[in-house]
Amino acid sequence: MEVVDPMSEENNTKHYFAKIIESTGEDLGRAGLVDTPQRASSAFEYLTGGYHQTLDDVVNDALFPSDSNDMVIVKDIELYSLCEHHMLPFIGRAHVGYIPRGKVLGLSKVARIVDMFARRLQIQEQLTTQVAKTIAEVTEAAGVGVIIEAKHLCMMMRGVEKQNSLMKTSAMLGCFRSNLSTRNEFLSLLRD
Ligand SMILES: [Zn+2]
Repeated sequence: MEVVDPMSEENNTKHYFAKIIESTGEDLGRAGLVDTPQRASSAFEYLTGGYHQTLDDVVNDALFPSDSNDMVIVKDIELYSLCEHHMLPFIGRAHVGYIPRGKVLGLSKVARIVDMFARRLQIQEQLTTQVAKTIAEVTEAAGVGVIIEAKHLCMMMRGVEKQNSLMKTSAMLGCFRSNLSTRNEFLSLLRD
């Protein structure tokens, strides 16, 4: 017999997934479901892995000196998150822009910062703000702009069942907030 420690976090999650499946009236013993609590628990752990990451791990010193003070844009960063109200996915893209002041961030690190916050229970507005504030903090940029557009499965599969609604959120910091032409440059570069 398998010896399990019911107090370990992993087995706890597995146990709760088993209860959730049972609550539908399903037979947990049937072939297709027998390992589902385990699989669902590891998937959930992965999808909420952002809680166990630190900014230092993610950035890993990938900050490079730069004389440029021209806008840097990373657009179309794929994003997968879970809404904190229904624990259903929301899926979309993030666009990040900043004006460096002496240092630039490694390109992949921008995407990893987005992932770190996306892999938590989230609302899109907060995710957008967290990414913007973190990029600002790490790079000490003169300004940061973040736009996220996403489709929420909690709206598509249940509730109002609106398949085509796309939610857009933005966070503008520093000169992206105070300077209209900077903000417009960002928005027009995103359209190209
Ligand atoms: Zn929701």
